[in-house]
Amino acid sequence: MSFQVHGKDLLGRIGTIKTKSGAFATPHMFPVLDPHHRILGREFFDRVGIHAVMTNAYLLKRGRQGLDPVDIHETLDYPGTVATDSGAYQILEYGHVGVAPEEIVGYQEKINTDIGVILDVPTGFRSDPSRARWTVDETVRRADRALEVITRRDIMWIGPVQGGVHLKEVERSAREMAERDFAIYALGSPTELMETQRYEVLVDMIVAAKKALPKGKPFHLFGAGHPVLFPFLVALGCDLFDSAAYALYARAGRYLTPEGTQLLGDMVEFVCICPACVGSSPEEFMWSQEKEGETRLVQHNLWTCFSELRRIREAIRKGRLWELLELRSQAHPALKECFNRITHYAEILERSTPAVKPHGIFYLGPSSDSRPEKLRFVSRLPGSVGERRNIVLVLPGRWRRPFHEDPRYESVAKAFDDHPKVSICFYSLTWGPVPIELDETFPIAQTEDPDTGDPIVLRGRAKTVSEFLQTLHPKGVILVSDGPFGRAVKAELSKRFTKRSLTVLNGDLLNPDAIVKSVERKLVRNA
Ligand SMILES: [Zn+2]
Repeated sequence: MSFQVHGKDLLGRIGTIKTKSGAFATPHMFPVLDPHHRILGREFFDRVGIHAVMTNAYLLKRGRQGLDPVDIHETLDYPGTVATDSGAYQILEYGHVGVAPEEIVGYQEKINTDIGVILDVPTGFRSDPSRARWTVDETVRRADRALEVITRRDIMWIGPVQGGVHLKEVERSAREMAERDFAIYALGSPTELMETQRYEVLVDMIVAAKKALPKGKPFHLFGAGHPVLFPFLVALGCDLFDSAAYALYARAGRYLTPEGTQLLGDMVEFVCICPACVGSSPEEFMWSQEKEGETRLVQHNLWTCFSELRRIREAIRKGRLWELLELRSQAHPALKECFNRITHYAEILERSTPAVKPHGIFYLGPSSDSRPEKLRFVSRLPGSVGERRNIVLVLPGRWRRPFHEDPRYESVAKAFDDHPKVSICFYSLTWGPVPIELDETFPIAQTEDPDTGDPIVLRGRAKTVSEFLQTLHPKGVILVSDGPFGRAVKAELSKRFTKRSLTVLNGDLLNPDAIVKSVERKLVRNA
């Protein structure tokens, strides 16, 4: 039994969980199977690469009353990792379950589960603060009772965090559970938030729980099964999900895509060409005999979930999880809000993002300003200019990186690079001011970004350039203005520097030699 992490980006990570029945890659979604109604066989799971599933121990026990417990792998005809839920969700639905917390732990041991859950008390969505407090306390009491009666240490036990939408309770619950030794920690009852698209609250809840839990243990989010949310949830540090949504949605003719749900009846052709969809049509699915269409829709929905999980793992490997969030946040206004909420926690994300990545990053506009690489750059800026010099030469940072190697201004940068009286600073639409000292640091020189922006963006960025230059207290500033952004920088510098101290050279008209000569003349005059 172990959890190994192989790669990280934001709070997301790729890992491997090993149980007594095998290993599987994370992030992972356990497809929740109905033990009494099996739709898919193990060949299908193998083909998709699904190596861990989940079922409900409580429903199984209730359905087999009077019968001896049987190994769950046998019941499901599934040799890989089987996780079992305790029935907590049924408490949420029906208010109570006719089984004692100790009994359900014992039952999970008898059926030889690989990953088990103690019987917690879900807070739910509508609990008031006092009810939320009680569910947290009661879950802790039950955790202690469960830990006393657990005999099988070869099972990975999940410690559920409760508290619902009451963030203080979530944090308190996480702190309490963190003191108890569970192999996996989980956050309970967010299903209704996901169904009603209140993603901002969900983001807050996950952050509140994660803050207090041990970092080296996997983190599970109960009931998350829609691929649109996976990138966001993984970016916040969720390693595991479980859901029956793939099957429930199929029953209602709902077709999952990474951008949202579509109704079969509204579709003319499939956008996906997974083995379930290829060569078929929505109409064929709808009018097929003997539930064939529904089964294929179930299969498609799972292909889609696991394809998205692969995409996320690839994004983490390449250090491009942020780019995936930006892309997915465009799919629906509610996802945009979810993304915006995540940016509130940019500093937390920054702390767990690698300092250097295997690939450069994409800057896609103001939405990229909260990404960890940008935050780090901004925090390094104040101490970046080693020695204060009299004159700052401000050059365009545009076409080629590193900026000082841009053929258009290379000779200008070279002419003054070691000049005792001159500091060089570039102005970049992505980064704002870039002192030559930072020009070659990651990821300034490895960023792909657009060269234009709307006037408001240009003005805002020009202001950051001007503010930074002011902190250097130079005697003079020589700006080489180039293009619309250069003109915006000129306008902002004019507000902060006197006419005497600011010299503007028109980079659109002058060639590099002429610029070098003008700067030299200026230096002589200043001497
Ligand atoms: Zn498909």
